[in-house]
Amino acid sequence: MRFSNVAKLTFLGNPALRKVCQPVDFSHHRAQVKTLATQLTNTMKTHCGVGIAAPQINTLLRVFIMSNEGQTEYKTIVNPVLESVITTSTNSVGGTSGTSAAVKGKVVSEMENEKEWGWEGCLSIPGFLGYVPRFRNIKVSYLDVNGIQKSETLQGFEARVFQHELDHLNGIVYIDRLVSTQHLIVESEFSKHAKHIEKSSSTIL
Ligand SMILES: [Zn+2]
Repeated sequence: MRFSNVAKLTFLGNPALRKVCQPVDFSHHRAQVKTLATQLTNTMKTHCGVGIAAPQINTLLRVFIMSNEGQTEYKTIVNPVLESVITTSTNSVGGTSGTSAAVKGKVVSEMENEKEWGWEGCLSIPGFLGYVPRFRNIKVSYLDVNGIQKSETLQGFEARVFQHELDHLNGIVYIDRLVSTQHLIVESEFSKHAKHIEKSSSTIL
């Protein structure tokens, strides 16, 4: 499908990807946010991403788009805040397979919180995938495209996408989160040499 209003992507090396973005003020940016949300969504879909942040189209505002795991819904996230990490140690991790089976990856405890490892790519770093630890369960707040305050709990895939995109708004890309450079691979090698992780668990953002 072809989309109108598709923007040019910025790639690693472009200074826009290393800037801390400005918060949206709905009294000034209301119209701009709607246009930006459409442009981001169309650009993301054109490049088959599941998330995209404003600096990836050279706009330094705290706005990103994220999809759900089935890619049936896209949310515009404005002025996002990671409120807290929900630790699962007191819950039933491994007890019921319901949530932990949904995302394939290794669950590790790090500090007092739980992170989960998974493969990520980035529209701004084409051709590569990295194995990145992210918090599995998070509580977040943000404004929607109309400036309405929202608060949500995100898990697994959606938690990963949120953290990846929030990083973009702070000038951070996923390769900054790698524990080892051995966790960075060329995307075309993924299906051949990363068989311990299923291809469906890689996420391009
Ligand atoms: Zn990205």
